[in-house]
Amino acid sequence: MKILIVGSGGREHALAWKCAQSPRVSEVLVAPGNGGTATEPRVRNVDVASEDVAGLVALAKAEQVGLTIIGPEAPLVVGVVDAFIAAGLRCFGPRQAAAQLEGSKAFTKEFLKRHGIPTAAYATFTRENFDPDWVRRQRTPIVVKASGLAAGKGVVIVDSADEAIATAQAMFGGQFGSAGNEVVIEEFLPGEEASFIVMADGKNIVTMATSQDHKRLKDADAGPNTGGMGAYSPAPVVDRAMHERIMREVIEPTIRGLAKDGTPYTGFLYAGIMVHPDGTPNVLEYNCRFGDPETQPILMRLRSDLVELCEAALDHRLDRVQADWDPRAALGVVLAAEGYPDSVRKGDAIHGLDAAAKLPGKVFHAGTRMQDGAVVTSGGRVLCAVGLGEDVSAAQRQAYALVDAISWQGMQCRRDIGYRAIARERSGE
Ligand code: AMP
Repeated sequence: MKILIVGSGGREHALAWKCAQSPRVSEVLVAPGNGGTATEPRVRNVDVASEDVAGLVALAKAEQVGLTIIGPEAPLVVGVVDAFIAAGLRCFGPRQAAAQLEGSKAFTKEFLKRHGIPTAAYATFTRENFDPDWVRRQRTPIVVKASGLAAGKGVVIVDSADEAIATAQAMFGGQFGSAGNEVVIEEFLPGEEASFIVMADGKNIVTMATSQDHKRLKDADAGPNTGGMGAYSPAPVVDRAMHERIMREVIEPTIRGLAKDGTPYTGFLYAGIMVHPDGTPNVLEYNCRFGDPETQPILMRLRSDLVELCEAALDHRLDRVQADWDPRAALGVVLAAEGYPDSVRKGDAIHGLDAAAKLPGKVFHAGTRMQDGAVVTSGGRVLCAVGLGEDVSAAQRQAYALVDAISWQGMQCRRDIGYRAIARERSGE
């Protein structure tokens, strides 16, 4: 069977690498892919953009693709799964109506409230009904969010009502294009963040291994927010009791609620959770796809056949399968280009990939492309070096051995990925 992976990031490289290991798979196509998927065994890049819905359907038909997996959110939000289903093609991901969970924070907040799922208190405004006095009555800090897709940049946390009002007005004024037509303003929640990722088939749920990512650019969680500078799995913040609470109070009511609302959810579902000091798992956001960079360490630990899991989901029999995990920890460090997360330098030759390939662990590519037979940088997050180990400390050592083999001009990365879990390991918690 041929598989098609849609997207071009580190997540898609990991999905393609994992699917290529399935004995049922003859070839994995990636549209459009990157420099890593270009050289992965049994994987081939195809030059179709990830939001070219008609082009993707035509490709899947022409190549007789048996299963398509959508990596990023943008094609899901524009309805690529609906187009595949209409063409009689098997495609793993939520339909457009269910992908609103990521495409519209206003929709999500209303959904969470209606179904009694814990989340921060909030109000939604448009330019027309914006109420600065309501904002002035809120406790600080205040969180201001553009409702639509804003490439991970649409959340601003401010310390005063005046800043919150100015931020909202900038969003109404087009700072994030139409993503800011609606703005959600919500209470700031203290606590520790955790990612919780599942596969759903409309009704049944299989949980992925727990993980935690690092959003800030610099060590010790300083500097600006990014798409993610590293992640590890398992995440000790989600112990067995918290796992059960998140399933019971968040994931199960969400999947049930979507089915009841007539928009059943099939695909990866990613809940961004803030675990309050009192233990409440509050939903910060939903993503309608696997996380990046969480996918890379999580798939390093997946022993089961990912293709079989996706097929089981499309056949509505996730209740009859299980995901089997390597008990070891995995940890991924993102290597980013100079300037990231703002405008980045591109086109630099990457050194040391051959040496890294001889070391244990795996380097997944994101913003890379092939140029005259060499791999050069072509985006902000360039690589994700993933190590495995008996615990998070050992996985971290393996990942940084890969990092230290690689270089290019202006390369930047954090040196402390996994520090919270490692502190817990050292204190014997
Ligand atoms: P989101 O895209 O909604 O997950 O927001 C991006 C990041 O902003 C999250 O990962 C949190 O670190 C932070 N954040 C979002 N909402 C809140 C909140 N209500 N309280 C505290 N931090 C938040």
